[in-house]
Amino acid sequence: MGLVFLLAAVLWGVGTALGAPRAQRLFLVGLLFVAVLGLHLVLPDGHPLRMATGESPALWLLLGGFAAVAMVYGQLVRALRRRAQATEIGMPEQKTGAFMGDELDRYARHIVLRELGGPGQKRLKAARVLVIGAGGLGSPALQYLAAAGVGTIGVIDDDVVENANLQRQIIHSHGNIGMPKVFSAQAAMEAQNPHVVVRPYHRRLEADMAADLFDDYDLVLDGTDNFDTRYLANRTAVAQGKPLISGALSQWEGQVSVFDPGQGAPCYQCVFPEAPAPGLAPSCAEAGVIGPLPGVVGAMMAVEAIKVITGAGAALRGEMLIYDALYGETRKIRLKKRADCPVCGG
Ligand SMILES: [Zn+2]
Repeated sequence: MGLVFLLAAVLWGVGTALGAPRAQRLFLVGLLFVAVLGLHLVLPDGHPLRMATGESPALWLLLGGFAAVAMVYGQLVRALRRRAQATEIGMPEQKTGAFMGDELDRYARHIVLRELGGPGQKRLKAARVLVIGAGGLGSPALQYLAAAGVGTIGVIDDDVVENANLQRQIIHSHGNIGMPKVFSAQAAMEAQNPHVVVRPYHRRLEADMAADLFDDYDLVLDGTDNFDTRYLANRTAVAQGKPLISGALSQWEGQVSVFDPGQGAPCYQCVFPEAPAPGLAPSCAEAGVIGPLPGVVGAMMAVEAIKVITGAGAALRGEMLIYDALYGETRKIRLKKRADCPVCGG
């Protein structure tokens, strides 16, 4: 028997010295085993060769069984290790897949909501939402989207944080004055919720890149204060069949609506066919705005986003909610699709 082991050791050693792969060496040793087993089965009892290689085939069969079990076990361990490594490499991807670590606890107050539950929270995690503008409306919308666990949040804005923004744009802080708003907002969101992916775009939304940018998202929130961007965002969202949640402010009053012609609702241009003449729609800088108002309307935009993503309740499609902060009143008006709308009509 010792002779066979010696032969196996020599085969293995020579194979290793010649640089033969492990599989080839295993094959040779296996061949030796089969040859010895064959000898035991073919040769009569008491044959010198059988006597020299351990007399009985039972011993060899037992040894072969052990070797087989050991090899299967080794394969199993290697397969498990490969899976564990693949999971480690896939960690960033996991942000949009299964919940990790403290996430179930973090979103517990969502998960107990009948309209959201675990499936709704999973949809939030898988969702990709683009927010245009990290100013008055964008700031609170971004904060609540990140806190709510929206998996991927894009934010596009070409402004830097200014001292005069801080009266209402609470995602930005005094220490970040001069910093691009998208990076200031990114830092705040990642600090609040490390489980979300934030993609900042420090530039203005332009016609030559809007379609490519929107391609990467399921839903768009528009919190800008200029009409060119609003019309561009609307055209692009309608062309891609994506819902556009739009908010607007002036002084003490805010409004929010979900423009979604893909679901039978009007688009932004159905309701606002033309930009107002210059001077008729003064900016926040010109007209002023009460600090908490963007917070109210931006948070409403985030609520609508969660409803659109999860299908909870009824989003403000074909409706506009108007909040008058000065008199503490809200009202809703119905919005109609225009058959001759150049963007969604026909
Ligand atoms: Zn339209």
